[in-house]
Amino acid sequence: MLGPDAAPRLLIIDDETGTIRLLTRILQDFGEIFFATSGEDGLAMVRRDQPDLVLLDAEMPGMSGFDVCAAIKCDPAFADLPILFVTAHSDMESETRALDLGAVDFITKPLSPPIVRARVRTHLTLKQRTDLLHRLAAVDGLTGIANRRSFDAALEQEWRRACRAGTPLSLLMIDVDHFKRYNDHYGHQAGDDCLRAVAAALAEIARRPGEVVARYGGEEFAVILPACGLDPARSLAERLREEVAARHLPHAASGTAAEVSVSIGVASLGGDDAVQALIAQADAALYRAKHGGRNRVSV
Ligand code: GH3
Ligand code: MG
Ligand code: MG
Ligand code: MG
Repeated sequence: MLGPDAAPRLLIIDDETGTIRLLTRILQDFGEIFFATSGEDGLAMVRRDQPDLVLLDAEMPGMSGFDVCAAIKCDPAFADLPILFVTAHSDMESETRALDLGAVDFITKPLSPPIVRARVRTHLTLKQRTDLLHRLAAVDGLTGIANRRSFDAALEQEWRRACRAGTPLSLLMIDVDHFKRYNDHYGHQAGDDCLRAVAAALAEIARRPGEVVARYGGEEFAVILPACGLDPARSLAERLREEVAARHLPHAASGTAAEVSVSIGVASLGGDDAVQALIAQADAALYRAKHGGRNRVSV
């Protein structure tokens, strides 16, 4: 994905090194440029290096540009990757074929530097906007962590993986204690700041690859722990609870410790439980943590 400040990554796939050199010179200030001299190598690079734009030669020995384009576009992960064909063939049939295969544009040789630059700039701008929309759709606006939408998608995906591979999967449901009183005492703005601080504390601890910390809704958070059984999940929950406590966020109206705390429910996937059952179990555990006196972890 192309961040707002990151340099775009452009991949040139062409069997003629002369064309690669020329394109590199024309586009050098657009970002990081790398290349492959065969369709096979180019396809491998797309999958491995996640470019932001591909300039693809149509005619190559072995895998042609059309084959490469078809292979890239059949993978939904690359649906937004702009592919621009660069070719000596300006006939309508090749152009139509390229566009039908999912290419966004078609540039003909001999290359005109201003045209190449203008078209590449247009498609990089669009890619930047698409990536931004994807990020906005996945992130919670208040806290900056994953939102409910990406939580649902990630849990579904991890649940399927766990069922298929027979690996464990755990889920934590986290709720801020006496948060209504917090808002009543300090005001809604301060309440928002508090939620940001709690989210930051959680995200700092649960940061292994695959772990997802999400805002589940209101003052509730959830953490997905792939390949993690009940005991390590309980330990992590305890560390999360301690990390929030260690921030010593004042909560004069909490009634007890006078600091912000969280209660956490832990559940692990058992047998062929449905996703909903896992959420319900974590919720039930959270309910017990609340009724056991709050600021605690329940399994
Ligand atoms: P408990 O310890 O049992 O969880 O009590 P609680 O007061 O935290 O629980 P309750 O569900 O009664 O209250 C949740 C409060 O969270 C009510 C709501 O106004 C507040 N809240 C939910 N979302 C936001 C938000 O985005 N910002 C702020 N400031 N408050 C929020
Ligand atoms: Mg060629
Ligand atoms: Mg709640
Ligand atoms: Mg609460």
